[in-house]
Amino acid sequence: MTAQASTDASRLAEPLARALGDRTATALGRLSLTTVGDLVRHYPRRYGRPGELTDMSALAVGEYVTVMAEVRTVTVRPLRARGGAMLEAVVTDGNATLRLTFFAKRAGVLRMHEDKLRPGRVGLFTGAVGEYRGERQLTHPDYVLVGLDAEDADAAIEAASRPIPIYPAAAGIPTWRIAQAVRAVLDPLTYADVPDPIPIELRQRDGLPCLLDAWRDIHMPADESGYTRAQERLRYEEALVLQAAMARRKAANDALTATARPPREDGLRAALDERLPFTLTAGQVEVGAQIAGDLASTSPMLRLLQGDVGAGKTMVALRAMLQVIDAGGQTALLAPTEVLAAQHERSLRHLLGSLADAGTLGSPEAATRVALLTGSLSAPRRRRALADAASGAAGIVVGTHALLAEHVQFADLGLVVVDEQHRFGVEQRDVLRARARHTPHTLVMSATPIPRTIAMTVFGDLTTSVLADRPPGRAGTATHVVPAANAVWRDRVWTRIREEVDQGRRAYVVCARIEPNLDDDVDDDVPPVDAGEAGRPALLAVSDIALEASRRLPGVGVGVMHGRLSADEKEAAMSRFEDGTTPVLVSTTVVEVGVDVSSASTMVVFDADHFGISQLHQLRGRVGRADVPGLCLLVSHALDGSAAHARLSALASTDDGFVLAERDLELRREGDVLGAAQSGGRNSLRLLRVVRDARVIEMARDDARALVANDPDLGEHPALAAAIAAWLEPATEEFLERA
Ligand code: ADP
Ligand code: MG
Repeated sequence: MTAQASTDASRLAEPLARALGDRTATALGRLSLTTVGDLVRHYPRRYGRPGELTDMSALAVGEYVTVMAEVRTVTVRPLRARGGAMLEAVVTDGNATLRLTFFAKRAGVLRMHEDKLRPGRVGLFTGAVGEYRGERQLTHPDYVLVGLDAEDADAAIEAASRPIPIYPAAAGIPTWRIAQAVRAVLDPLTYADVPDPIPIELRQRDGLPCLLDAWRDIHMPADESGYTRAQERLRYEEALVLQAAMARRKAANDALTATARPPREDGLRAALDERLPFTLTAGQVEVGAQIAGDLASTSPMLRLLQGDVGAGKTMVALRAMLQVIDAGGQTALLAPTEVLAAQHERSLRHLLGSLADAGTLGSPEAATRVALLTGSLSAPRRRRALADAASGAAGIVVGTHALLAEHVQFADLGLVVVDEQHRFGVEQRDVLRARARHTPHTLVMSATPIPRTIAMTVFGDLTTSVLADRPPGRAGTATHVVPAANAVWRDRVWTRIREEVDQGRRAYVVCARIEPNLDDDVDDDVPPVDAGEAGRPALLAVSDIALEASRRLPGVGVGVMHGRLSADEKEAAMSRFEDGTTPVLVSTTVVEVGVDVSSASTMVVFDADHFGISQLHQLRGRVGRADVPGLCLLVSHALDGSAAHARLSALASTDDGFVLAERDLELRREGDVLGAAQSGGRNSLRLLRVVRDARVIEMARDDARALVANDPDLGEHPALAAAIAAWLEPATEEFLERA
């Protein structure tokens, strides 16, 4: 290879088939590793210490182990019942013994093993520990023998005196073969082959090893401090790349210009404030002022508005939208589900009253129009909505993903509001902005309180506002866990619903699935739920519970709601619920986010243990909104003392979404929290843990901001720029595939 060819990152881009041969490459392909770069970034999950390796008395069944041991006996015998033959070797660490077994159709194959596994020889044996008649054994272990498998054994023995990297392995690739492969690609790499995304000043400041040294230390550590230091460095690198990506997005945004939309004293916003039946909370006033200031500037707003369920975010958003309309622009409100989009449209119309009646006789002069655009609209309704958006007649266009479609045009889009952002990927947020002629302002609202570190990671490019208070006069919601197996308690659930309905209130009854005994009954409008644990009773379905409700509540109208209904059907179901025709609504979690029916007092969730904490908190947020006290009944098969029961008890014990979000985070996997699209490429976070590594993330953020401030294009830091591009790329591709 010429010197020139090895000076860029091309060595890392080399396919494993070329570097290691087809067979090894195929095996590694099962771990989704295709290039040299992929392989060196496949880090050990943990390390075995040499001392532990030979202590065979501690081997646990099912564990994947590598042991250094001496062969004691070998026997080959035919298997009469099954045909073929079996070799059995007993190896020892001096104390305990371990059996190795090999099966073969022909004795000849076993003779090869017999030849090598002579008593007295020492080797390294790798496999999953099994059990046969009370004794532990490795079946068909991989092995190398000292002095026999010349190079391999030397390397193996060398490795045996060091921490042994244990890799996330797959069937057919024992961890030590991965280690061998890593070593094979790592050895020839030079510093020139491995550009380091961490600028040298930062490395020197913190005494971090360079990337190639870190790779050597994490894969072939001399001792524990070697891999610990390497892990620290690589963890910081992940945080830095992520934060630099965010800093660049923010800088890129700051470089754009938006149309300034200063507030007006005599516009729609002022008119709305006049007709509001309540006074704004201190938080709404404060955040409202921040947003008003942002909108009046020519720098595009990128703000995250966080506030617990019921904090009054919609009102804040509406006032912002009206300011933009007053200044001649249009606004889009992006909602994650059709139900929520329709609900927003209805409640915005309701709040606006005659202010949303533009074009009708006697409407106020400044009045505007609200249009709804979702995927399942009838053709005429869709045409009208599209026309109103394109002509500018609609000041507010509310919609789902359908709003992101290519053919949706606005006359002058000034503000994009994204509700319940955690359902959208970062890229989706940008679609509408990218299409507008002038960059619109963006307001992202999240009802799931986001712990600071997550906010920093996922929304690192957004300025955050928090609505800390809630509108006064909330009666609050009492939450109880109801054991599903107890018939008396279950009867009581229906009695309580009846009592509430008799007082003119509404009750939601939420189920995990639409129909029973169907595999494909997931509701497309809500995220997939986990498959039920083995042995638990089948999940109750909307169709079943709707029947039960009709039977148990004679004379009470029972409605049904789920994502399979058409937009019209959903709207009809919601308005029958609101007007009291069907005061009981049996639904999937489509009602989870944002749905606001003030007379709703009761939320019953069947199979509550099936849902996550924040999901249940969202559901509970649908009731107790007005001056009517809310009641939330979590019906569950979870047994006292189980983790699921603990989750439900946590919900019953606090109404504070931030406290619950932290609890939720402890109980769930990181990826679930971040969401695939939001955590960047599929392999982006290997070592970094958003909750545990808060300090690293904060430091990396400050460093990244400083770097980007001095060098916006990262022209002086090409390796960092390349790492960012690699990080963003897979996510973008995934997004395009989905679109
Ligand atoms: P969320 O933050 O969950 O989106 P909403 O904006 O839906 O909350 O507000 C919840 C309810 O509180 C709505 O019915 C809304 O009209 C009402 N509301 C909003 N602001 C106030 C306020 N300042 N005083 C009284 N009620 C309010
Ligand atoms: Mg809301």
